[in-house]
Amino acid sequence: MDMIGVIGAGQMGAGIAQVSAQAGYRVLLADVDRARAEAGRAGIGKALDRLVAKDKIAAAARDAALALIEPVEGPAAMAGCALVIEAATEREEIKRRIFAEVGAVLGPDAVLASNTSSIPITRLAQTAPDPARFVGVHFFNPVPVMGLIELIRGLATSDATVAAVGAYAARLGKRVVRANDAPGFIVNRVLMPMLNEACFALGEGVATIADIDAACRLGLNHPMGPLTLADFIGLDTCLEITRVLFEGTGDPKFRPAPLLVKYVEAGWFGRKTGRGFYDYAGPEPVPTR
Ligand code: NAD
Repeated sequence: MDMIGVIGAGQMGAGIAQVSAQAGYRVLLADVDRARAEAGRAGIGKALDRLVAKDKIAAAARDAALALIEPVEGPAAMAGCALVIEAATEREEIKRRIFAEVGAVLGPDAVLASNTSSIPITRLAQTAPDPARFVGVHFFNPVPVMGLIELIRGLATSDATVAAVGAYAARLGKRVVRANDAPGFIVNRVLMPMLNEACFALGEGVATIADIDAACRLGLNHPMGPLTLADFIGLDTCLEITRVLFEGTGDPKFRPAPLLVKYVEAGWFGRKTGRGFYDYAGPEPVPTR
């Protein structure tokens, strides 16, 4: 398995493309168009430059990794890939369209994987060309830093598919944990209710953004506060995952906080849009409430 495809060149797709290229895979990178895929590759170039500046990798390793990443027009270019990882926006209809498109060209042994944070793998597999060769590979953000992959097996996923993705994850140097195809898998099932509760607390005036974050950092010994983390993940992504937990379980304890919904409606998605619970225009993030 030497050539992989990555669909979606945003935060996650770019990170997956980067670590795959650093592990020696040739990577075809697609987004809604070639320009977005090119922009994704340019961002990876900057991330690799920073690693060189910090003496974490050699300049030759950066050049070798970047040379392995090829932006393409779309999924139709991925016919030769042994593994295609979808990391597009967390909306089921978008992913379904992508699977139909890539499914039309996918090789007979190739594996199709989704980096979805929350959508059931068994259901997504229905739009894949072969549900036996469909699997969830859930990376964490930022992909080059985080050492975990949740591997989620749908009802029809074959042992060979699990083994192929396990070998890929091992080559990336990531620890694999296996989760059943339940809403939120492991990490988001535990994390999202906490982030959502921080939004409720803020919306109800329990404390300021800075104090909620400081309380969890210092009182729970978390490396960052929940509102900082939500901004980092993307508030749109947090809301989508919370909705999936709510709808997937039918349990009202997962209902999205009104303030989280409002921020997403305002287009304040967090770090990636320059504003969320913090404003990222200056050198340091500034709390907005
Ligand atoms: P993002 O908004 O940074 O990137 C999504 C990318 O998908 C964008 O570049 C967008 O242009 C592209 N896209 C949209 N429609 C497309 C299409 N039809 N074809 C190709 N590309 C398309 O979002 P992200 O944070 O990178 O999230 C991507 C996926 O990874 C989601 O499924 C999300 O749930 C999952 N995920 C996110 C995190 C996180 O912390 N952000 C962690 C694990 C998994």
